[in-house]
Amino acid sequence: MEEKKRTVTKVTSGKKAAAETAEEVKTTGKKAEGLTKAEEKSKAITLRIVSAILWVLAIGCEVLAILCLFKALRLPGLSQMWWMIIFIVIDLALCLVAGFLWKKASHLDPFKKTNNKVGFVILTQLGVIMAAICFLPLIILVLASKDKIDKKSKIVVTIVAIVALLIAGLLGADFNPISAEEKAAAEQQLGDFAKVYWTRYGHKYHLYEGCQAIRNSSDVSYSEGEEIDGEFVPAVRVAMDNGCTGLCAFCARDAEKEGINLDGVHLEDGTRVSGDEAPAEDLTLAPADGE
Ligand SMILES: [Zn+2]
Repeated sequence: MEEKKRTVTKVTSGKKAAAETAEEVKTTGKKAEGLTKAEEKSKAITLRIVSAILWVLAIGCEVLAILCLFKALRLPGLSQMWWMIIFIVIDLALCLVAGFLWKKASHLDPFKKTNNKVGFVILTQLGVIMAAICFLPLIILVLASKDKIDKKSKIVVTIVAIVALLIAGLLGADFNPISAEEKAAAEQQLGDFAKVYWTRYGHKYHLYEGCQAIRNSSDVSYSEGEEIDGEFVPAVRVAMDNGCTGLCAFCARDAEKEGINLDGVHLEDGTRVSGDEAPAEDLTLAPADGE
């Protein structure tokens, strides 16, 4: 695929230009590049295809482990138990990468939630489902097997496979899912913010540089609303593309004070700090982004 040269123009329009004029903000973090809608979509498709291939290979490793169990596959050099463990570890590695890429795709090009809540959960949490498919059948077969494997090896293989299942399930789960509708609402309602901030390990984004959740963080990334190939890419989209799917509760409160409508916007933990509630001062001592 030929990559055509992108044209990026800085856009300074928008109601929130005030945030900028308050002296050229001394943002210390690194700027993240935005993607157009078409770029998001094509990147997501690629990531999903790669995930699917990796999951198929992972299942292949599970099958090889099962063949070792039934002694249909006898490999030289190592014992039956060790070959099974090797296949389980490769299975896990493939599963983890696939789950990571799948989540990344779900943030770039989220699934729709309206009219299909179950489908949304299944697709968004596919990493967990695939983890189960990649390890559960093997675990059940090992536990059910008699005379196929000696007792000690059976215990070791079972424990390794269960640990792999738990790791793959936990890391494959999307704890910060976002729907296409929520992403569109955020772009629409918060698209005027010229800059949006987040921390490296955070899962939420901030609209105000002075937000207490990031004020003391030395690891802040940011994005700027800009024109890319003739399309306006709002700063908030870049934050969501980078896995920061929810709006920080403090920033949500401040935005509401400014009269900004947050309907449909995905909020941090689905909650917001209510209007007059003074944020606890010691929260500034919490680790960056409070994750
Ligand atoms: Zn904030």
